Amino acid sequence: MATTQYDPDCIFCKILQGQIPSTSLFESDAFLVFLDINPANRGHALIVPKRHVETVFDLPEGYGEELIAIMRKVGKAIMKATGATGMNILQNNYADAGQAVPHVHWHLIPRFAGDGLLPWSTKTYADGDEMASLAGKIRSVL
Ligand code: AMP
Ligand code: ZN
Repeated sequence: MATTQYDPDCIFCKILQGQIPSTSLFESDAFLVFLDINPANRGHALIVPKRHVETVFDLPEGYGEELIAIMRKVGKAIMKATGATGMNILQNNYADAGQAVPHVHWHLIPRFAGDGLLPWSTKTYADGDEMASLAGKIRSVL
């Protein structure tokens, strides 16, 4: 692949080019999977496409099928190797959603009963048609 697929200022692009080290778990032509340096739990890994795009909305077609296959293959291996009894697969888009590294990636986070990683809090819809109205608004811009 051409080097123009990378951004010289991006930490994940530097990892993909071998300019800074990572602890790799799996690699294909299109993806690298390596351990997160600050894991939510030990074994927390990141699936990173070998192309600099910021968010999932910027990713070209054609990555989906292999991405799911890698989630399943590496995710199961992490669970087996760590003894995890659960796994979160998470992906943040833009800073307001908690994205710290602006190169799209998926988190594989092994989970254990009572590990203290809490789910986010929930909200409610107002009585009446707020839920249906919002669904209609979303469908209208699909
Ligand atoms: P996000 O907040 O979704 O952008 O996640 C970025 C993740 O990248 C965080 O969990 C960081 O711990 C992780 N990270 C940042 N730099 C490195 C690095 N050099 N090697 C491995 N993981 C990293
Ligand atoms: Zn990048």
